[in-house]
Amino acid sequence: MSDLEAVSLKLEARGHRVTPSRRAVIAAALQQAGHFSVDDLLHRCRGAGRATVFRTIRLLTELGVVCRVLLDDGSLHYRVSERTQHHHHLVCTGCGGVRDLDECAVSDLVRELSNASGYEIEGHWLEFYGQCAACRTQTVSAGVPA
Ligand SMILES: [Zn+2]
Ligand SMILES: [Zn+2]
Ligand SMILES: [Zn+2]
Repeated sequence: MSDLEAVSLKLEARGHRVTPSRRAVIAAALQQAGHFSVDDLLHRCRGAGRATVFRTIRLLTELGVVCRVLLDDGSLHYRVSERTQHHHHLVCTGCGGVRDLDECAVSDLVRELSNASGYEIEGHWLEFYGQCAACRTQTVSAGVPA
């Protein structure tokens, strides 16, 4: 579902114009194997300005084509998403690998918090950081204590 034509059609169906520079940004985003920053896309699409890259990435995020990943150094990256719904991530601090989790595990907590505080909760961030299985194996075989 994440190919360039399908994404362009979806954007147009929502009334967004897909200009050549937006197209270039979408193509560059879809080609990224891992997670990427706005600066990464700027480097790859020299014809597109920062505002165009930001705006296009926001549209892709709204479509669920791309999701936002908060890295453990506090920087915000994006990745081509395997989920269109709200979800969280497992982020490996060793190799930088990211996995989309199936579903939100804290929806009960959000409901309880809302009831207890009177807030209408509109969103939350929750990412999990650690070493993936492959990185853990490497650490063990290198003899580095855990
Ligand atoms: Zn890893
Ligand atoms: Zn994701
Ligand atoms: Zn959630």
